Amino acid sequence: MILPGATIGILGGGQLGRMMAVAAAQLGYRTIGYAPPGDHVASDLCLDFVESGWDDSGAVAAFAARCDVVTWEFENVPLAAVGAVPEGRIVPHPRALETAQDRLKEKRFIETLGGRPAPYAAVESAADLARAIERIGVPGILKTAREGYDGKGQWRTGSAREAAALQFPGRPCVYERLVDFEAEFSVILVRGGDGEIRFWDSTENRHHHGMLASSVLPASPLIAQQLDEARRTAHMAAEALGYVGVMTLEFFATNEGPVFNEMAPRVHNSGHWTIEGAATSQFENHIRAICGLPLGSTATRFARVEMRNIIGDEALTAYQLLGDGTEAHLHLYGKREVREGRKMGHVTRVSNAPGTP
Ligand code: AMP
Repeated sequence: MILPGATIGILGGGQLGRMMAVAAAQLGYRTIGYAPPGDHVASDLCLDFVESGWDDSGAVAAFAARCDVVTWEFENVPLAAVGAVPEGRIVPHPRALETAQDRLKEKRFIETLGGRPAPYAAVESAADLARAIERIGVPGILKTAREGYDGKGQWRTGSAREAAALQFPGRPCVYERLVDFEAEFSVILVRGGDGEIRFWDSTENRHHHGMLASSVLPASPLIAQQLDEARRTAHMAAEALGYVGVMTLEFFATNEGPVFNEMAPRVHNSGHWTIEGAATSQFENHIRAICGLPLGSTATRFARVEMRNIIGDEALTAYQLLGDGTEAHLHLYGKREVREGRKMGHVTRVSNAPGTP
């Protein structure tokens, strides 16, 4: 067990790290962050923040030497950087990163567990792309196998003509069938070092241009019906990876059952509602899990919860949400640069009264 007072290292410097640092501080831990130079909003909250490249394994090793345990908030931390942290000091185990960093590996892994991704094909050349489109059909989506997020590195084909015009982007990709879904949801779990697994309730997630816009509880009845099957897949994934900490699996709820979309070996945007909406937040339970402390209850505390992301210049007037007459909890990430499409914060509304939050 890593007791309060110890130092937790966080690889990555975004808002997930920032909220993790808050949860760690509440439990009496110190945090040190590490990321390549940039606008790191976690650095405001960490005791110290090291800015150096992911390829600087000496700097990563020196950072790790100052920490009792190291975790990540960013799933694209290169494996070489993670490898510079002494074995056993990094939690969860890096095999989860290895699987989740590659969409193909991730889909194959889920299939071995009996889960069902959308029909897909690996694409490594223009010829592969043509074959994949022929086999899988349209509408479809071409996604870079690595380093895509929030809808980036994705190209949609609605018609055969669009598909024919699609260029191979020159990096390994996955072409997958566009799923005709009723709703989207995520399964977020925490697994402790002793193997105990707890799930939070699954929100219904709405996306805009491939990026999460809002998460709402309760989710639709269709999601509720598909939860057992989706949780079984997530449970098996966590077990197979010997995972410790919080992990997220995203699904499409379809009339044929849950279709796996992707896995994030970390706390997740669709779990931000847990800060006010659940007995223990995803951030606190992640810290508890990686330190070997008992896990907290994941029970939902309200009849209705809604988390909405604050994007781009919405942040400039977001303080006004505090006076809108609802129980609005505003989180601003302190990003210095406002950019279109950038996640700047979120607002969570909780309520036990009838109607919407
Ligand atoms: P991803 O980065 O793969 O999570 O994709 C971001 C969002 O794009 C998803 O949450 C969906 O809203 C949409 N999307 C991605 N893949 C598919 C698919 N195969 N079928 C339908 N929608 C998709």
